[in-house]
Amino acid sequence: MTVQPLAAPAAATGSPGQHRIFSGIQPSGIVHLGNDLGAIRNYVALQSHFEAIYCIVDYHALTSTHQADVLRERTRQMAAALLALGLDPDRCTLFVQSHRPEHTELAWLFATVTPVSWVERTPTYKEKAAQQPDDVNHALLTYPILQAADIAIYHADRVPVGKDQAAHLELSREILRAFNRRYGETFVEPLAVYTEAPLVLGTDGRKMSKSIGNTIDILGDPELVRRQVMSMVTDTQRIKRTDPGRPEICNVCQLQRFFGDDYEALWEGERTARTGCVDMKRLLADRITTHYAPARERYRELMAEPAQVDGVLEAGANRLRPQAAATLATVRERMGLR
Ligand code: ADP
Repeated sequence: MTVQPLAAPAAATGSPGQHRIFSGIQPSGIVHLGNDLGAIRNYVALQSHFEAIYCIVDYHALTSTHQADVLRERTRQMAAALLALGLDPDRCTLFVQSHRPEHTELAWLFATVTPVSWVERTPTYKEKAAQQPDDVNHALLTYPILQAADIAIYHADRVPVGKDQAAHLELSREILRAFNRRYGETFVEPLAVYTEAPLVLGTDGRKMSKSIGNTIDILGDPELVRRQVMSMVTDTQRIKRTDPGRPEICNVCQLQRFFGDDYEALWEGERTARTGCVDMKRLLADRITTHYAPARERYRELMAEPAQVDGVLEAGANRLRPQAAATLATVRERMGLR
């Protein structure tokens, strides 16, 4: 197997006057179709239009992942997956949150301007507390403060978000505003870049999610992908092969939209019962495995050559060091820490 070397990271990304975006993704292990269509595809597109900083947020992951080996492995898997799916270290900066520990210092300093009531009302805190009732650790509560620090430490002025995440960004903006009010104008309030991202449903018809176990593991073995696609729930009212299908509510038909321009013709075949659910699933499985074949191969290569991945991550963190240090120096000075 030949391993194609990754290009050396450029000294800087972006051009003068270009907006800087920041986005974090949790190292959650195997990447599924929902992650790609809902987030990673956008990351890849945005790196051409913005100075893009992408962070694998392992500090955040510690709020629910407590096994060191698991976290380490998932961090590497996420980095390899992002690179395999198209993040280009020449056009963006990819790094691991804990490799720039300045994030946590800034989060502590931001905690001193953040009223407890602001973090207590965060919907994700309430959700997480319900999901892991035996482990409602303090970091779950302060999560949004670390998020604000992640963005502000690089003075990112744009944050890609789905419409449903607008509230999170608003809290970051409030924290920065509170800091500016107390210590003088220091941070720009980042604006949302709304990204068109579909909500991808899993094999059982609920939101595709690793925690539910209803995923299509795009970088996994083609046989696994095929099994997962073949197990998908379709139109439950279509009992006999000759019953007309309803592509609007069939998840298999919906996913065809992302894998070819001919989905309307395919849908017509379903409506007229010219094709059946099994035909449609076979076609979707073929298209998904074909579409992701190069990424799957690249992912395997990268996982077999961890030094390459680690090199990209280290270069990313090093590239950001001066900016992180400069922001903290200003903040310390304004807060009277020296
Ligand atoms: P999971 O729910 O499987 O643990 P994450 O919460 O780690 O996935 O999500 C990582 C990124 O992928 C987030 O930006 C999230 O919005 C996106 N994402 C996850 N699941 C889906 C889905 N089913 N549809 C669309 N986007 C998704």
